[in-house]
Amino acid sequence: MENTKEERPLNFLEKIIEDDLKNGRVPNGEIVTRFPPEPNGYLHIGHIKSICINFGLAKKYGGRCHLRLDDTNPAKEDMEYIDSIKEDIRWLGFDWGNYEYYASDYYDQLYEIAVRLIKEGKAYVDSLSAEQMKEYRGTLTEPGKNSPDRDRPIEENLRLFEEMKEGKHPEGSYTLRAKIDMASPNINMRDPALYRIKFATHPRTGDKWCIYPMYDFTHPISDAIEGITHSICTLEFEDHRPAYDWATSIDGIEHTPHQYEFARLNINYLLMSKRKLLYLVNNNFVTGWDDPRMPTVSGIRRRGYSPESMKDFVSRVGVAKVEGVVDYSLMEFCVREDLNKRAKRLMAVLDPLLVIIDNYPEGKTEYFDAENNPEDETSGTHKIAFSKHIYIEREDFMETPVKGYHRLYIGNEIRLKHAYYITATGVEKDESGKITAVHATYDPLSRGGTSEDGRKVKGTSHWVSRDHAIKAEVRQYDKLFKAENPGAATGNYLDDLNPDSLIVIENAYVEEEAGKAKVGDYLQFIRNGYYCVDSKDSREDHLVFNRTCTLKDSWAKQKAKMGI
Ligand code: ATP
Ligand code: MG
Repeated sequence: MENTKEERPLNFLEKIIEDDLKNGRVPNGEIVTRFPPEPNGYLHIGHIKSICINFGLAKKYGGRCHLRLDDTNPAKEDMEYIDSIKEDIRWLGFDWGNYEYYASDYYDQLYEIAVRLIKEGKAYVDSLSAEQMKEYRGTLTEPGKNSPDRDRPIEENLRLFEEMKEGKHPEGSYTLRAKIDMASPNINMRDPALYRIKFATHPRTGDKWCIYPMYDFTHPISDAIEGITHSICTLEFEDHRPAYDWATSIDGIEHTPHQYEFARLNINYLLMSKRKLLYLVNNNFVTGWDDPRMPTVSGIRRRGYSPESMKDFVSRVGVAKVEGVVDYSLMEFCVREDLNKRAKRLMAVLDPLLVIIDNYPEGKTEYFDAENNPEDETSGTHKIAFSKHIYIEREDFMETPVKGYHRLYIGNEIRLKHAYYITATGVEKDESGKITAVHATYDPLSRGGTSEDGRKVKGTSHWVSRDHAIKAEVRQYDKLFKAENPGAATGNYLDDLNPDSLIVIENAYVEEEAGKAKVGDYLQFIRNGYYCVDSKDSREDHLVFNRTCTLKDSWAKQKAKMGI
């Protein structure tokens, strides 16, 4: 620890790596990690943690991190997923360089190893059905039983395995199993399956294979072939470690990688299982994997989260060996912290109420300078147009003000952000009694938002000029689930979907400058929240903005309460 410059103590993986480096246990002193997603869905926030750990450690110790697509289940895998995975990792700012691998690249080698195991009497072809196999496997407290096929002669095993490969046997009829120990206390060591028959077209190998290697066989050997030094995965693989070590110690495998497990990232209110996320997509509970409410990397990107904020979040969560649930508000806190520093401040009126400034000349337009970001002195200013007709938020006016209401009401004076002081003088209503316009007068001497005589006003409203503003669609996103632990109460997470997770405002008005915003820009609509341009639906003649998050900082409040 004494030779690290960082303030935070080393996490357990860093300790292991530094110890291995110090003791010469790392070939050439080069740390090699890998990020091994299965291309059966889009990456989610949990994966960000794994990406940051694997790419982060490689970077910190001057090594490399491979991207390995773990494509051993052709039925569920798709090129679309592979492309999205790459895009997401790049968006996070990581790069695997030339080290792009596919488990399917090793099918020939894996097959040869399997044949060798058969020849050495270490693997056999089993004809037990899946159900029977389960029965024979035993339980956590009872040992398993040997399959009647366990002692099948080597020659017959070789012939059957060859026939499996040639497609002569139907799915489920045979599997190739390792001959380890049916009485092992670890169920994963009770003659694990190495190969199964599957007639499916693989996204990369097409119809070349109809037998596919199992994860516990493929993964360790892929790691060994690539020279991975530290194979880092989540805790649920801890029980698989003996199978990992078994596979990497097969005769003829030269490099021996080691597996280490850390606690996966869980966040309350979010579901992070590709299976469940796929269900939401397929059944139209969301508009796709990149729906801004999805906890996917593409979802949060479209929602307006920055990669920096997510890396900060993951680093605050830390790396541990104990499972826990992280608070959603910590994640939003990190998003706000980052966006506060970089988001361009703009004015948008989401629920417009017309204000007519009676003493302001008809047809006149004035321009005010609005700061782009008060947190960033270098961010400059932009122009906002002011005229006789402006919109303010409907909730910023009250005909009969309640006690403590400091915004606009008849006889009260407020500041229009960056512009003038105005005082309301009257209202117009439609037949139903709804207010359709407010009349006001302005003080020409309060240009820029301060009065000449130094009189103070308590309220400041944002506004846009009716004749200059651009009509826009604003999508107010909120959490997809309303329960902290979706599904916990009824057993069905669909019961906890938040009916208000998306509220679409068709007729919002944004200041002209907002029309220049591009996809990927970070925006703050003053007093309304952080926003971004929707990457899919926004067009020049129909702007669409997504709410990234509100301005309210509940985590900061919570922290203050807890005294941290
Ligand atoms: P899911 O359970 O969501 O379907 P998975 O584990 O099947 O995810 P993989 O594509 O196999 O998804 O994951 C790639 C890597 O990301 C693995 O090393 C896995 O351990 C890690 N990972 C997956 N989910 C999380 C998580 N919530 N937190 C941290 N790492 C994760
Ligand atoms: Mg998996």
